[in-house]
Amino acid sequence: MQDEEPRLADITTHLRDVVFRTHRNGYWCYLSPAWAHMTGYTVVESLGTHLLDIVHPEDRPMNLKVKQSLEIGKTSASRHVKRMVRKDGRVIHVEVDVRMAEGDEDEGRVSVGTIRDITERVEMEARIDAERQRHESILAALCEGVASLSTDGRIRYLNPAAREMTGWEAGQCVGDMLAIDEPLNGANGLRGLLTALSAGQPYRLPQPIQLAVGSRWLELRLAPLAPAPGEDGGVLVIRDVSGEQELLARLRHQAEHDALTGLTNRRAMHDILPHSHDQATRTGKPYALLICDLDHFKSVNDRHGHAVGDHVLQTVALRLKHLMRPGDRLARWGGEEFLCLLPATEPAAAWSIATRLCHEIATHAWGDTLDGGAPTLSIGMACWPQDLSDPEKLMLCADDALYQAKRSGRNRVWRISPGHPAQGA
Ligand code: GH3
Ligand code: MG
Ligand code: MG
Repeated sequence: MQDEEPRLADITTHLRDVVFRTHRNGYWCYLSPAWAHMTGYTVVESLGTHLLDIVHPEDRPMNLKVKQSLEIGKTSASRHVKRMVRKDGRVIHVEVDVRMAEGDEDEGRVSVGTIRDITERVEMEARIDAERQRHESILAALCEGVASLSTDGRIRYLNPAAREMTGWEAGQCVGDMLAIDEPLNGANGLRGLLTALSAGQPYRLPQPIQLAVGSRWLELRLAPLAPAPGEDGGVLVIRDVSGEQELLARLRHQAEHDALTGLTNRRAMHDILPHSHDQATRTGKPYALLICDLDHFKSVNDRHGHAVGDHVLQTVALRLKHLMRPGDRLARWGGEEFLCLLPATEPAAAWSIATRLCHEIATHAWGDTLDGGAPTLSIGMACWPQDLSDPEKLMLCADDALYQAKRSGRNRVWRISPGHPAQGA
């Protein structure tokens, strides 16, 4: 035992932690040499002083409680963290391991333990914490939604914007929630996202999607996370593009529709016609074109003014639309001209529809608007493939028929079918 003493002293001399012993009343009676380096006080200077003297004033109440609980035997050992004020005034963070022990006969119970300087660790943690809080405030301030996903699609984190846009919660599996919307949004894009996530690749959903929750349009972009322990997966950036989608839809509608009547406009009809013709070629089903022109419309304007003329055009558009079947297309083709496309319609059926259109306009009750003088409609009709197989020429053929309808007295349908006498009614 005698031989052990020098060795023990040797160890405590070289320890970075302080080994201590205090009397029952809390006065230091042994401090190992590391004390001087840790606190700036010499060991001699500190022996006999009270252990609470060096403790940061704010931590003294806590320390006192620990001391009392050890003294009354409520606990036999304690590990606690506190601040101490060095001789030079610098505050250090220490971790204390202390337990009660039997001292010499005249000492009674004493406390023994170690003090470790953990200032570097605490400051590092504080820096990391501050950095994390800074990141969180940035994420919270972002208008874009940010969701962190694990490789298997589990949501690890959502910033407030992402929570608000999606209604998702951390812990849920994004695959489950996206699957709900597959019928609405097309499964391929979403499946692509999940595949990219598990492969650690970036991905952008080809089109904005609408989730089941709410009616917002969301754009989803996936960026993989650089591989790090416990941080696989990706970051999903979510942008609410509802406003843009709405604007796009409005602009598309404006571009394809006539402002006065709300009907498909001539430009859009130009796109529809070749598609419809291709479909007819594929299915072999005949179709008909009706060019409808109001008779003596100029005189309506002249007699009643342009505003009444506009009202007449709107009313005629409504009446004509009312007689269209599902699949038929009606466009404002020019000033007082309308074009009807009747897909999958035999000439006889088209003829019947055309005469009904004439009748509808001629018999419309205009009330006081036109002083009894109802406008009438002349229609030129052309049928594919019976009249002409070339779609461009078919339109000219309908134009010619309209011209004939006008010439032969107006308020009638005309058809010029090659090899057949011209028909009018
Ligand atoms: P026809 O029987 O030969 O077809 O004679 P019409 O008077 O109907 O034909 P014309 O081509 O001479 O005149 C068409 C008129 O349609 C001229 C134009 O002022 C009028 N018009 C064209 N677009 C509009 C419009 O948007 N609003 C109004 N109020 N009038 C329009
Ligand atoms: Mg005209
Ligand atoms: Mg006219």
